[in-house]
Amino acid sequence: MRKMNFAAGPSVMPLEVLEELQRNLVDYHGKGLSMVEASHRGGMFEEMYDECLSDFRSILGVPDDYDVYFLGGGATLQFTMIPMNFLLSGRHADYTRTGSWSNKAADDAAKLGNVNVIFDGKDGNYTSLPDPAEVKPSEGSCYLYLCSNETIGGIEWQSFPDTGSVPLIADMSSDFLSRPVDVSRFAMIYGGVQKNLGPAGAVFIIMRHDMLEHRNPGLTAYMDYAKHAKDKGLYNTPPVFSIWAVGLVLKWIKENGGAEGMERNAIMKSGYIYDVIDGSGFYRSPVDPRYRSRMNVVFRCPTEELEAKFVQEAQKEGMIGLKGHRSVGGLRASLYNALPMEDAASLAMFMKEFERRNG
Ligand code: PMP
Repeated sequence: MRKMNFAAGPSVMPLEVLEELQRNLVDYHGKGLSMVEASHRGGMFEEMYDECLSDFRSILGVPDDYDVYFLGGGATLQFTMIPMNFLLSGRHADYTRTGSWSNKAADDAAKLGNVNVIFDGKDGNYTSLPDPAEVKPSEGSCYLYLCSNETIGGIEWQSFPDTGSVPLIADMSSDFLSRPVDVSRFAMIYGGVQKNLGPAGAVFIIMRHDMLEHRNPGLTAYMDYAKHAKDKGLYNTPPVFSIWAVGLVLKWIKENGGAEGMERNAIMKSGYIYDVIDGSGFYRSPVDPRYRSRMNVVFRCPTEELEAKFVQEAQKEGMIGLKGHRSVGGLRASLYNALPMEDAASLAMFMKEFERRNG
């Protein structure tokens, strides 16, 4: 029996996609060759890749003046590439520090240039976000950076700041395609695919083309976004398997109502869990209710012993990945797009039952 997988990433994939990969792994649609054996400069890959990029654009409505492609290196490499390219020497960039991932990005950027922190959630233990209407870029900033969903802390921007002419850059690794996004408000959106989009290995990049006009000089080839944009991500060998699987997940998303459909499901699934938390004197959410994540629901039991017991007993029921990140403890249920509705409902039922027995 398949596990109910609440892991934060790598994470659950649509079963249909896994089966399609299995059916075609050895012989890709009767071509006598596996996709992972085919040259990335050949027709078989190119056809698949073009379709993947075209589905990607159509699901989100990516405007024509944006480049879309995939890179390797994890989302983490972008923490470096972004400031290398766009944190122009002698100038500064604005960063919001809202949890582990934006902190890592800001720390890396600060090694390469001047970082101006316009919000730091440290005093509140990263359980809340600034009011987007109040977030304004500083004079002369090269860009404003945020992480749309802090996977570890479980907080998610519900709307985004208006940064005017200052480019807005967002790490959407853990909530991408869980809701519609107006791409035109961002200069760049990127993320690792290993949560909502597919198996680890690829990072998607959506970048307004005019961003390339103002880059630091002297970039090495791989670090230069212009190189990747020019070749649609094929400057070097791309993560072929991951891209193939992402293409299939995108088709699955299209068949299941697109970004709007994913949002409806995310509201329902997270609703199951938050309703249990809110209706209980046992569970507690540390997160500001205004910014609760629909993707990563973070919660606590009265004691750490009960939390350990929760994880253990859930595992016996086939529910895995519920332990909170090692840096913060507690419990975390990741409810990505591919997590079946029934699994979220089962977790909610298990939570109630566990409370009844231990509350
Ligand atoms: N940003 C966010 C929001 C993440 O959740 C993660 C990984 N969990 C990363 C960045 C880093 O991604 P990677 O491991 O692909 O470098």
